[in-house]
Amino acid sequence: MNKYIDLRSDTVTKPTPEMRQMMIEAQVGDDVYGEDPTVNLLQNRVAQMFGKEAALFVPSGVMGNQICIKTHTNPGDEIITDVDAHIFVYENAAPAVLSGVSVKTLNNQNGVITSEQIRDAIRPKAYYLPITRLICLENTHGRSGGTIFPIEEIRNIHNLAKETGIKMHLDGARLWNASVASGISFKEYAKYFDSILVCLSKGLGAPIGSLILGDFEFIERARVYRKMFGGGMRQVGILAAAGIYAIENNIQRLKEDHLKAKLIAENLQDLKTFDINLKNVQTNMVIFKIVKNISQKEVLEKLKDNGILLTPEYHNSIRAVTHLDVTFEDIENTIRIFKKIFN
Ligand SMILES: *Cc1c(COP(=O)(O)O)cnc(C)c1O
Repeated sequence: MNKYIDLRSDTVTKPTPEMRQMMIEAQVGDDVYGEDPTVNLLQNRVAQMFGKEAALFVPSGVMGNQICIKTHTNPGDEIITDVDAHIFVYENAAPAVLSGVSVKTLNNQNGVITSEQIRDAIRPKAYYLPITRLICLENTHGRSGGTIFPIEEIRNIHNLAKETGIKMHLDGARLWNASVASGISFKEYAKYFDSILVCLSKGLGAPIGSLILGDFEFIERARVYRKMFGGGMRQVGILAAAGIYAIENNIQRLKEDHLKAKLIAENLQDLKTFDINLKNVQTNMVIFKIVKNISQKEVLEKLKDNGILLTPEYHNSIRAVTHLDVTFEDIENTIRIFKKIFN
């Protein structure tokens, strides 16, 4: 697949020789016994970075989100999130299956739901109504093209959650990107949430792995569900080592990915085939809305024939995601090819 400039997702990155070397040299132990020193190191480091008491290494982002939902809720409860949230759209209705909860979805503007909307959505207390137990936000917001959830609104929602006794979960698969782009620290984002998911396998370039964060008590209960969901792993320090390499080397460089996305958007905004909302190009994604009489499929095929891979998005759009395996030269070529094929 090397002949393609692969802009489908930041999940397509491959571990570098340096990262693989760390994996080879990792000390390991049985992590189900809590005895893998490299996993413990990664968990402690990430917990510290976010100012949380504890962290738990999990195989995937989906499992991390679902363990958090399970740990916060009881069957018959309700959780609130936005209608485009990963938790609602891309996780196979897992909240219903694994936690037995209903999901109340709210319309969003660029991934943002407001404290007023949430206040209206919270169920009053009555024995025949579900109990609103959890609010889930997503930052950056994938389906809106990597937009950043404004910290002011997070604070408003946090105040509402405190007032009403509802817990807050953050799907922060790409929180790294939000923090690097906004200059707001991980700790500042983290302090408004009872639980957080972060992924090592997206822009940070690790082959696998996510972490969930919370207080000691939460993580101890979450460990039970990790085991129940089949996520208890053994000598997994070889994977945690890739995560340590990623957090040591690949966070600040996300700025480059953001610059790459900006370059694509700014250079292609005059093409009449697409509508690009520059305001929404805040991190490492560009959404191209197709506004001419050409199908999504045809656009993607033409690009593929010219060596560029993108993904289809909803609302007749296509999406480009920049990451550490695309060079600035690849970006220049992408721009050149777009201009050659489309007008
Ligand atoms: C990728 C992603 C996840 C989880 O993904 P996995 O593929 O299970 O690791 C969760 N939330 C968001 C917003 C994501 O982009």
